Order: sequence, then C-alpha cells, then structure tokens
Amino acid sequence: MDDINGQSLSLLSPPSSVHVPYQVVDALSVKPYSKMQNHFNQEDPQCCICLVEYEDGDEVRVLPCHHEFHKTCIDEWLKNVHRICPVCRDDVCKSGSSHAKR
Ligand SMILES: [Zn+2]
Ligand SMILES: [Zn+2]
Repeated sequence: MDDINGQSLSLLSPPSSVHVPYQVVDALSVKPYSKMQNHFNQEDPQCCICLVEYEDGDEVRVLPCHHEFHKTCIDEWLKNVHRICPVCRDDVCKSGSSHAKR
C-alpha cells in the first residue's frame, strides 16, 4: 500500500506556508529602474538574487522594507522559495499591516 505518492499531501499545505500568495506579490510596488535615481545610499545597484546590475528601464520590485530586486527574480523567490526579504529577512506578508500605512 505504501508508495511514493506521499507528495500529494503538499496540496494541503497549511496556512503557515512560507510562500507568498500570487495576489500579494502582485500588489507590491513595481517601478522602472533609473540610474538617475540611484544616488542615495545604494552601494551596489544590483539585484541580490541574480547579482546582475540593474539596467535603465528594468522592472524592479520594491518590498515593504524598501529593498529592491528584479521583478522577475523576487517574484520567483517569494512565490517558490520563501516569503521573507532575501536581504533583511523581513516578512513580506506581515510588514504591510504592522506599519499603519494610512
Ligand atoms: Zn535579479
Ligand atoms: Zn529587506
């Protein structure tokens, strides 16, 4: 009876899933990257996930903690790897509500 189909249990993942729902990811800010605006404290104008420098016009995703990544990179990270910011480990889902944002 026992076989290797135990994986089907993952369909019933608990609400404490480490992943971010698609609709939450899509609600995060996105902006086009501009080198003109990169004169503030950013030492490395590069994506911490793929380690590639941003190019003018790249879509960058801005997390509630204000860290920025390629939209494509952070989307994959949040949806498939973990719901925390890869840099400061802030929980993307809870940040929104803890900081009363008007
Ligand atoms: Zn990237
Ligand atoms: Zn962060």
